[in-house]
Amino acid sequence: MRAFGYTAAGSPAEAVRIAAATPGSTFVAGGTDLLNLMRDGAEAHDHLIDLNALDLDGVDLTPGTLRVGALARMRQVAEHPAVRREFPVLSEALLASASPQVRNMAAIGGNLLQRTRCGYFRDAGSACNKRTPGSGCPALTGHNRGHAILGGSDHCIAAHASDMAVALTALDASVHLLGPGGERDVPVGDFFLLPGSAPTRETAMRPSELITRLDVPRTPLAARSRYLKLRDRATFEFAVVSVAASLRTRGRAVEDVRLAFGGVGTRPWRDVRVEAVLRGRPLSAASITEAGRVLVRDARPREGNRFKVELVQRALESVLGELGGVR
Ligand code: SF4
Repeated sequence: MRAFGYTAAGSPAEAVRIAAATPGSTFVAGGTDLLNLMRDGAEAHDHLIDLNALDLDGVDLTPGTLRVGALARMRQVAEHPAVRREFPVLSEALLASASPQVRNMAAIGGNLLQRTRCGYFRDAGSACNKRTPGSGCPALTGHNRGHAILGGSDHCIAAHASDMAVALTALDASVHLLGPGGERDVPVGDFFLLPGSAPTRETAMRPSELITRLDVPRTPLAARSRYLKLRDRATFEFAVVSVAASLRTRGRAVEDVRLAFGGVGTRPWRDVRVEAVLRGRPLSAASITEAGRVLVRDARPREGNRFKVELVQRALESVLGELGGVR
């Protein structure tokens, strides 16, 4: 690993000040992804700003919002009684992520910013437009079983890796940021960017900005929610396909629904056209099938991941069938 400098920040404002004044710096909290990337040469930073002393680890319910501090640990959030009760999709997504050891260590902010598991990206010896702009994307024609079928470009098809981000997308959460220009909120749906011709830029964050917390609206919809994750082994494995779903019905009619998908998109994937198919109609096997077809209408699968087109539709059938009592 290349040598780097280190500073422990004493406050969020100080962390942002140090970042703005220190070229080549980045923030570190749990370090469960960042340090692996630095060790493997997939990322290089001249200076790490340690956030662990900051008072940003609270999980609090206000009358309208769940507020999750960026330094709260994955396990702490997953097992919080209010999260389990009012946001089961969030708890389930976190518990389906990583391993118990990683969940004890990894911070919520870092979970959002974890990098793709694309093997070419993580192998410093491979070409990769995301790591080295202009070097090419071997995944387009190479090993692409784990890659995205939605939202890709001719420059990158890497799938987004965070289960939690998929749940937060279905919950209409927002990311609270502190930067040199002050504070701002960005909806999770706008936070992650499509790769387009510039796959190095993954989020809407500006230079030196710090995630300080997540805000999740408290709604009856969130309380009836589920996360289904399909993966190659039962633990410590990333999603092949996942679905975060929340549903409100009156009788059999769908009053409201939120759906987001993991493993299939270059960002946590939400398509409001899919929800529109279901809203205002009785939930049935036919309406779920129609919604699934809309979901994959723009899919662009590759040789190794063609199976995801059918798998994600079956996952949608399964989770909505369970939530809505349709079998
Ligand atoms: Fe790199 Fe993206 Fe291609 Fe993977 S899919 S090799 S991350 S450019």
